[in-house]
Amino acid sequence: MNGSSLKKPSPTTNFENILALRPPIGGWTPFSSIDDPGHLSTVLFLEGCPWRCGYCHNRHLWNHRAQTDIHQLRAFVSHLENRRGLLDSVVISGGEPTAFQQLPELADSLRSHYRVALHTGGAETETFAQALPFINWVGFDFKTTWDNYSQLTRNNQSGTNGQRSLECLLASQTPYEIRTTITPTHHTQEILLNMLDQLIALDIKTWFLQEGRQSSRKRMEELDELLNDAFIDQLRNRADDSKIKINMRHADGSQSTLTHSEQRLGYSSDRS
Ligand code: SF4
Repeated sequence: MNGSSLKKPSPTTNFENILALRPPIGGWTPFSSIDDPGHLSTVLFLEGCPWRCGYCHNRHLWNHRAQTDIHQLRAFVSHLENRRGLLDSVVISGGEPTAFQQLPELADSLRSHYRVALHTGGAETETFAQALPFINWVGFDFKTTWDNYSQLTRNNQSGTNGQRSLECLLASQTPYEIRTTITPTHHTQEILLNMLDQLIALDIKTWFLQEGRQSSRKRMEELDELLNDAFIDQLRNRADDSKIKINMRHADGSQSTLTHSEQRLGYSSDRS
């Protein structure tokens, strides 16, 4: 489905709609300057995810509670009402927010007063496509090569859905960021090169590679070995040839650009 083909309804104006939708709130962060780049945002974490990535740091959000935490939801809505004009955007994250079938209605309810950003891997393509007309920016999680998705996520449908969702995103003209969290247990140099080829085939212009938080010194050493200088040269050369930019978010919070120039930038991020 092409999200851009959906008609945009007129914006709603009442945050009460959000209470009525009862989104499965798993938590929220009042202020963030990094989750919607260039915008001061508040982040809503939704419960529910059909995938089971081995490196997931949000396992507590995998399953819904029996009932929405209405007190937490009221506090979130109150924050939105009180900070109107002071905050730029609401980031809907998770879990996997497309697992909430009324995500389009939720985004529509927010957008009359806020810019809306979405963090997703595109697990539920239909919901994602229907939500896109109400979304201003997407941070899209490209986890591995499409044929390796089921192994990483332990969900047989994940590669198909992830690929279809990314195609919907590209067709929609919605601004986005494609990012991959690298873990030595799930990524090899060959996989990373194949992922680059898949992004090149889609004419993606920029790829953000993020060094995942590692659980031990041994894992950190494995990550260093995976991203050794010879491999980085290989990655850079292939990317430069195809004019795709690769930005690296390092585990220490800094960022560098791998392609064209190796300029180290001051940057703080705790995204994983
Ligand atoms: S898609 Fe995200 S929330 Fe779901 S298991 Fe993977 S990392 Fe965790």
